[in-house]
Amino acid sequence: MKVIRAEHLGMCFGVRDAINLALDTAKREPLTILGDLVHNETVLAELRSRGIRIEQQPEQVRTNTVMVTAHGASERALGRTRERGLNVLEATCPLVHVAHRALAKLVADGFHPVIIGKRDHVEVRGLTGDLADYDVVLSESDVSNLPARSRFGVMAQTTQPIERVRQLVQLLREYFPQSEVRFVDTVCQPTKQRQHAAVELAQQCDVVIVIGGAHSNNTRELVETCSRHCPRVHHVQGASDLNEHWFQRQDTVGITAGTSTPDVIIQSVAKWLARLDTTFTTSTKETHEVKSISRMD
Ligand code: SF4
Repeated sequence: MKVIRAEHLGMCFGVRDAINLALDTAKREPLTILGDLVHNETVLAELRSRGIRIEQQPEQVRTNTVMVTAHGASERALGRTRERGLNVLEATCPLVHVAHRALAKLVADGFHPVIIGKRDHVEVRGLTGDLADYDVVLSESDVSNLPARSRFGVMAQTTQPIERVRQLVQLLREYFPQSEVRFVDTVCQPTKQRQHAAVELAQQCDVVIVIGGAHSNNTRELVETCSRHCPRVHHVQGASDLNEHWFQRQDTVGITAGTSTPDVIIQSVAKWLARLDTTFTTSTKETHEVKSISRMD
């Protein structure tokens, strides 16, 4: 059995930096994280074990310092937090700031804002929190039900698959041929790289293991993407979810992971697979460097 690791996988720099900021701050003072930093139970348990609290609303915060997650927040939500006299640490990812600025410019230029994303996701709540009038779409029926406007300004939640985003923008143009549609691509580069690498991986594998939290949106997107190219895709939260019956001796097995999955969990899955007598490779376009799993540790 051969195991291939996706060229790009696992935790992105935005989430990693936010976690490091939280851990460093918690060494000095009590800290509350506002909202869901990651949808990964292992990471959340680690943060809680360092005494870090996680709350959903500013009113629930009981520490002097509160951290906004990598997914960002609206100015209104930040204002509510500051009004309570709290010290606000911003861990908003720079690429989420780019999305906020793109949206603000669309509105300033007179376009009706349409966000492609999940309405209840913390990033989308942050994007829409300061807007009086906007729409959030995720499917063709959402697009077809939009009221007609003369100008639509479209952008996306940073973790949406770019193919879906382009498809919905195209549909919007088809449903509203009289309207001016301006699209700004705000899907972040790490998401594009992981999605692209997942397609490459799934196309050459008999089985793909996608590692990530059960409620992680971008992990589910990776599962969906891989399933379009490989018939046997399993979503696991860690090595303990793996099942020997999924693998046969001649299989090529691919590993990928969502942007909130820590390296230690990816390594534990790789080690578990190594016990099944494997060779281990990293997927790249040009070369497949073969390493034994023990040399990777
Ligand atoms: S998924 Fe993209 S935008 Fe979100 S934190 Fe990671 S790098 Fe930043």
